[in-house]
Amino acid sequence: MPFRKRAPTLTGRLRWDIIIIFCVLLVVGAIGTLEFVARNVSATLHQYIEERGALLADVLADQLEDPLKRGDHETVHFLVTTESEHCAYLLLTTPGGHRFAAAGHESPAPPALLAIAPTQAPIPVTFEGEPMLDVSAALPEGQGVVRVGVSLAPVTSARQSVVIAVLESTAVVLVLGLSFVFWLAGLITRPLSLLGDAATRLSRGETSVTAPLGGHAELQTLAETFNDMATQIRLRMAQSEAMRRLTHETLEGLPVAVLVCAPDGEVRFANDRARPLTAFALDALFPGGHPVHPRPRALQSPEGRHFDVTTAEVEVDGAPGVLVALADVTEVHQLSARLHRVERLAVAGEVSAGIVHAINNPLDGMRRALDLARRQPENAERVAHMLELATEGADRIGQITRTLLDFARADDRPVRRAVPAADLISEAVALVSLRAEARRIVIERRVDPESPLAFVDPRSFTEVLVNLLVNALDAVPSGEGRIEITARASTTGGVTGALEFGVSDNGPGMSPDVAAQVFEPFFTTKAVGRGTGLGLSVARRIVGAHGGELTVESASGTGSRFIVKLPPQPDEPNGTEV
Ligand code: ADP
Repeated sequence: MPFRKRAPTLTGRLRWDIIIIFCVLLVVGAIGTLEFVARNVSATLHQYIEERGALLADVLADQLEDPLKRGDHETVHFLVTTESEHCAYLLLTTPGGHRFAAAGHESPAPPALLAIAPTQAPIPVTFEGEPMLDVSAALPEGQGVVRVGVSLAPVTSARQSVVIAVLESTAVVLVLGLSFVFWLAGLITRPLSLLGDAATRLSRGETSVTAPLGGHAELQTLAETFNDMATQIRLRMAQSEAMRRLTHETLEGLPVAVLVCAPDGEVRFANDRARPLTAFALDALFPGGHPVHPRPRALQSPEGRHFDVTTAEVEVDGAPGVLVALADVTEVHQLSARLHRVERLAVAGEVSAGIVHAINNPLDGMRRALDLARRQPENAERVAHMLELATEGADRIGQITRTLLDFARADDRPVRRAVPAADLISEAVALVSLRAEARRIVIERRVDPESPLAFVDPRSFTEVLVNLLVNALDAVPSGEGRIEITARASTTGGVTGALEFGVSDNGPGMSPDVAAQVFEPFFTTKAVGRGTGLGLSVARRIVGAHGGELTVESASGTGSRFIVKLPPQPDEPNGTEV
């Protein structure tokens, strides 16, 4: 999965935005305050020091006026030295070139003091490493200039104190402010982050999660909506879990094996019954990973068990798939085989009734021919002719009994092969023709020359046609009955090559109610002892085993038409088991 950079959370972003804005404001405020206070304090102090220096210079100038006039240098020196206590230094320069200098009673003055220029203009100086404010005052009558140096150290230290005080208060404000900001940011963003946490937990499958309802109205609405949503999800998940369990239990409880496969035969689901059959079912339905077309409707396992196969298109993970249901019908198959035999014997019985009747004719002929031959033994030619007739009669009887025996014989393993439709029709008509003749019922055959070969087990398929003809014979009136048996090419699902047989009669037809039940086993409208109700159900099973369909079109008074549709012959037709 490609790496996706996570966007910063809204709450985290908001919190940091608030903190950064607060810090910037605080720093700007602190610098402004610092600048303002420092500037004012410095200016005020500076002015005060300057005034003090000027006052001192003026006072000294007054005091010195007389001694200077008198040339009393000792007093001048005394005054300068005494007053120098009130400042950093005092420097008096007379026009006569005398310099009196003192620094804090210190006399003689330090050399650094004497190096200060004797001009009147104030000059910024540094004295003994300290910044000085130098104030000068001229003595009256040009008696000289007094320079007073006042230390600016108090200004510097006051400024430092102010800076420290401002920095300290800024730090305190910063700490308090940040705490407040964190608290405030938490107040605003906490409900949002709780909601975010709840959403994350929900997305991880914790469906019991709920969002707290604290905070402002918008957030409350958001939390309520979230909780409604979570409840809906919980409900849907519970429903889908219940549905999943029900489906699972249903599938496991079904008396059929169920497989769900992808189009390439990959098994996506198999219930307990299906698991032991999976390999065999996949071999039959997806040989080599490709689906078989058309899909078989019946399968026989290597162990000899029979399965009815039902398939349906389903969606598997958004892709088309196939649901395969295998119903074990081995017992039904065995029962049905037994019923089949019963039906076969019943039909054979019906057929043989006609046959017994029909055998009488050649038997009569034989008897008459033999009688005639016996009466005129000298007429060799006549005797030979009569014997020939008798032999023909015997052959006819032999053919009839062989056909009957063949029909009634117990089931061999049915094998499908390609047979002309006309042959199947001839065989079936031959079996019922004696009976039809006895009742003067016409059976017409119409075989379209374009008909494809029938790919069937001839014995069982003949039985289907015989069943349909016997029913038609039973339905039509003697003397007026007409039955038509047809074969023609047809199409199934748009595919050509299919074959369609039809057996229609001009009997009374069936009501919709009867027509809807005729294929059910044991359904009969015939008198007790005449009908078993098995003929059509057996016929439909046989046709189904051939991959075909047996249907009926009938209405009261219009006769009936039974239609057998067989699918196109597969590519390798010979020797396939039904
Ligand atoms: P059976 O012939 O032993 O009654 P079938 O399964 O062959 O059993 O037929 C079931 C029923 O279908 C018949 O009893 C009859 O009522 C009805 N049936 C079948 N074929 C025809 C037909 N050609 N015309 C009218 N009814 C028919």
